[in-house]
This record gives sequence, structure tokens and C-alpha cells, in this order.
Amino acid sequence: MSDTTRTNRTAALLDAIDEARLWRRHMDLGAIGATPKGGVNRQALSPEEARGRRLIADWAKELGFTLTVDPVGNLFIRREGTEPNLDPVVTGSHIDSQPTGGKFDGAYGVLAGFEVLEALERAGIETRRPLVVAAWLNEEGSRFMPGCSGSAAFTGKISEADALDIQDRDGIVARDCLPEMIAATPEAEQIGLGFPIHAYIENHIEQGPRLEEAELPVGVVTSIQGMHRYEIDVRGDEAHAGTTPIALRKDAFKSAIDIAKALEELMHDPDDVIRFTIGRFETKPGSPNVVPGHVHFTIDFRHPDQDLLMDRGGRIEEVAKAHAGPCDVKVKRISAGAPVAFPDEMVATVRAAAEEAGHPYMEMPSGAGHDAGLLAPVCPVAMIFVPCEKGISHNEAENALPGDLHKGTQVLGLALMKLAG
Ligand SMILES: [Zn+2]
Repeated sequence: MSDTTRTNRTAALLDAIDEARLWRRHMDLGAIGATPKGGVNRQALSPEEARGRRLIADWAKELGFTLTVDPVGNLFIRREGTEPNLDPVVTGSHIDSQPTGGKFDGAYGVLAGFEVLEALERAGIETRRPLVVAAWLNEEGSRFMPGCSGSAAFTGKISEADALDIQDRDGIVARDCLPEMIAATPEAEQIGLGFPIHAYIENHIEQGPRLEEAELPVGVVTSIQGMHRYEIDVRGDEAHAGTTPIALRKDAFKSAIDIAKALEELMHDPDDVIRFTIGRFETKPGSPNVVPGHVHFTIDFRHPDQDLLMDRGGRIEEVAKAHAGPCDVKVKRISAGAPVAFPDEMVATVRAAAEEAGHPYMEMPSGAGHDAGLLAPVCPVAMIFVPCEKGISHNEAENALPGDLHKGTQVLGLALMKLAG
């Protein structure tokens, strides 16, 4: 390929990536599961997620892209390459949301990938390798824990059965919801679990304040910090709130708050790098005049350093037991995602794409976990961040600027075109 052709392809792709269309698609997808406060509730394997997938499938159909779906429900949109037998370059993210989530978390990665495929198609640019947009199942892990079950099953980190047997809080099993998801896109050919990937790039809103503060439209992501999740069960005895003397109670709530307080101290970090969150705290039976006999709570614990995660996380059980008072406590680690550093060549590819597109950027680690972290053991991985308003995410107020979404998509487009040849 001559230099002129290369330059023409670059210019043609940058031109064809359409800011208004990309924004409109965010609004159209955001209308599915829309909440009164401007966010979305489109949780994994819900009817809303199925409708979201149908919408994207309709767009894909119009452009002649093909769809496939795997046994755990990951959906793939493929634009053929001139050498269809080569391993594809894959991009994407997820369209499931938190119960009070925003329009951009996850959706942006899928829609940015789709916009690149559409822009290539409309500009008549061929690539040697096929390009695939993935919508990974259950990234958020809000309804079905743990999250990223779709990408984890794809890469073999968990088994197909493990991905399908997860249950939500009402005891509904993922396996039983899957047929409705599959039925939403009947044209999608069913394929086996996992296929070789040449390289993977995921676009995402930053979900933190750094890019906005620095007034930069693009983050070139270098790594993802590790994340461990725990479930804690504190068991005492239910008793009458009016008649049972305090000294005789086994009050699971009282023990649980003592444990929580002690864990806050264990996780105290003067440098403010440790991320420690108790996001769910349930007392049972949850009656005003019954001493709680059971408390269940979750811990989300993150740090860029694997040793710290293992050491500090390993002390959770001993600290919990020491502060359980008259109650029994069980600590269970339900996931342990190690920190992931992205390969230098992939970071360099994204950096070069940002420079070619003329968009200023900074290099940064990701504070949040992403499907990209799960893909990292099986293929070279990179991520591209764009700012979100005030860094707010996992919130109905989540917002981003059309221009920033567009710039991040242009960087993705150039990087994907380079990788796909
Ligand atoms: Zn996300």
C-alpha cells in the first residue's frame, strides 16, 4: 500500500465517523430501560437488555453485517475482511447497566465499535481481517454476581455451566433467562464458546474525574487495577425487640457494623489508593420489632498491586472473626481479578492513533474493571477512555459530551484499521 493510499484511508475514515449519528444511537439505546432521572435500568438478561440487543441487530442488518451468539449469550456483530479466515480484530463492551445506571457505561464501547464498522462500510474501506463488535453478557454484576461472566466464560476463566448457573437475588437463574435473549436476535447464528482474537480494544467512559480535570478528550489506558469481591454472612439469633435484654441478644446487625468498622480501619490507606466499598448490606428478617438474626454484606476491594490485594484481603476473615461478638461470621471471596497491564505495542498503537487523529491525550490506568481485563490473557488488549461529566458513573446522572465520544471513536477507528490491515 502506498503512503498516499494510507493517508486517504485515514482521512476517509476520520471523515466517515459521524458525531451526530453516534450521539443519536446513544439516545436511542438509552431510551430502552430509561429511568425518570435520565439514566437507564437495563440489567443483565432483562427484557430491556433483550430489546437493546434487538435495536443494535436492526442497525447491523441494514448495513449487511452478520450476527453470531455464543452459548452464554455474548452477541457478536461482524464486518467481513478481505481475508475472512484471519483471526478477527474485536472491539466492544456491554449494554447491561446498573439498576440506576447511565446511558454511556458500556453502551459507548459497543456503539463506538459499531460506528467504526459503519463508517468503514459507508466509506468503502476494506480491511484484511474481519472486524467484530462484541456485546459481552453481564458485565455489571449488579443483578447476577460476579460480573463479566460473559467475557470470563468466553476466555475459559470460568466454565459455561458456571456462567449459566449464576442466580440473582430472587433465585432466578441466568440459564433460564437466556432463551429470551437469544430469541431477540433469531438471525444470529449460534456458535461455540470462544474463538481466536487477533487483538481487542475497548472504548469506555473514564468513570472518574481525571480527563475532565485535565481537559483532555482521550485517555490511553495502560492497565486495569485488580478487584476482589467478598460476601460476608453474620449469623446471630432472631429475638423479640421488646422483651429480649441486650445482654442476651445475638444481634447480627450490631456485630456486622462492628465488623464493618474494623474492616474500614484495616483498609485505611493514607495515600488513598485502596478502594474499599461495602455496597450491599441486608438485615434479615428486616422487621422493625425483630432483632436481626442474619446480616449479609458485600465487599468490593481494588488496588493496582496484586501483593497488597492478597495480603490485605487475606486479613479480612481474621478481622471479621475478631469483631463478630456473640455471632458467627463467614467470609467468602467470590472473585479475585488480578491487576492487568496492557502490552506496550497495543498502548503504542492507541497512542499513535490519537496522534494521527490529532486528539490530545494522557496515559492512565483504569480504576474500574472491564471486559478488556478478562480478554487480556487470550489476546493483546488495549482501552480508550473519554471524559464523563464530573467523573460520575454508575449513576443516572452519568453524562458525556458528543464531541468527546466522537474523538474517542476516531482514535478507536484508526487503531482498529491499523490492526485489521
Ligand atoms: Zn462498563
